[in-house]
Amino acid sequence: MRVSLRFLTSAAAILLLSFTAATAADQPLKASLSAMGGIPINLSAWGLDQAAFDLAVTEISARIEELEAMISTYRPDSEVSRLNRGETLESTPADLSFLVFVASWISGETAGTFDITVEPLVLLWRQCRQEQRLPTAEEYEAALANVGHQLVNVKLDGSITFDQPGVKLDFGGIAKGYFADEAVTLLREAGATRCLAEVGGDITTWQADPAAGEPFKVGIKHPYGGDELYGIISVPTGAVVTSGNYERFYEINGHRYCHIFDPRTGHPVENMLSVTVTTKGGIEADAYATAIFVMGLEVGRSFVERNEQIEAVLIGLGADGKVVEYISPGLVDRVELNPNR
Ligand code: ADP
Ligand code: MG
Repeated sequence: MRVSLRFLTSAAAILLLSFTAATAADQPLKASLSAMGGIPINLSAWGLDQAAFDLAVTEISARIEELEAMISTYRPDSEVSRLNRGETLESTPADLSFLVFVASWISGETAGTFDITVEPLVLLWRQCRQEQRLPTAEEYEAALANVGHQLVNVKLDGSITFDQPGVKLDFGGIAKGYFADEAVTLLREAGATRCLAEVGGDITTWQADPAAGEPFKVGIKHPYGGDELYGIISVPTGAVVTSGNYERFYEINGHRYCHIFDPRTGHPVENMLSVTVTTKGGIEADAYATAIFVMGLEVGRSFVERNEQIEAVLIGLGADGKVVEYISPGLVDRVELNPNR
């Protein structure tokens, strides 16, 4: 069965389409939740009875609430808000040390294009949007003085310290992928034979035997919007995450500035439309999608080609202002592009 590319829309950057060879017995159990002030979470699982699935959904809901209470910068009492205010935590949750450790590792791998210390830039641009003006050179300099993954330390006991006051963490570039991974882990632990979690468009899938099972079909939203998808990726197992410039941005004096920043310059990324990454886990996929978005078409392409475990679709604007698309060689056979894209 071919999946129709037309007339499919979703609030998410990516959406799940349908599965081939679906018979009544193949139908998954489904549930929807929401997190972080309205981000939709959609869960699907095969091989579970209703009671086991319901229990897993309750566990996922509790787990996501636990993580949100820890990392949300909108909650003044979260551990991350307390660290960002310069407080020392008497005990650091293991999940938080893990997140900072993984994020720092990926910052190193991606030459600092992914960086959880971008929060001063996020705050600066939020303020500028409110005042409908651009940041001044002094404001850029002041914010950048506190941006840099090297300013954050995770000690062996898991404690987190900053090299100087003013450093602030923001897990916006990695949280959705992590939540999707956590949901899949809980569905697997409940006994699912095949499952999928979508958190605000970021998708983690799993199936026991990827070679034997039907691949998941995941749509790439068109960066210019409209009813048509850009394409569909077949995913045997693993995560698919898209970073785009089209859903969240800062609008100042009629101009749209991207919500993803280059941590090295403080500037919002220009000339990139969307980056879709598929790799094993959602946490890496989410971070790499953000990083490759910052790298841009050329550097992003060579990064993807150097890393065997990462496949990606990059859509950006070339020097002549025309749309350029790049599909990594390992993905060519697994992507069906919309001919009218
Ligand atoms: P989306 O929100 O579209 O899924 P991302 O996963 O790329 O996109 O996350 C963007 C968010 O991550 C921003 O809103 C901001 O909070 C944070 N962020 C912005 N730039 C970076 C960056 N270079 N590295 C890490 N996080 C970033
Ligand atoms: Mg991301």
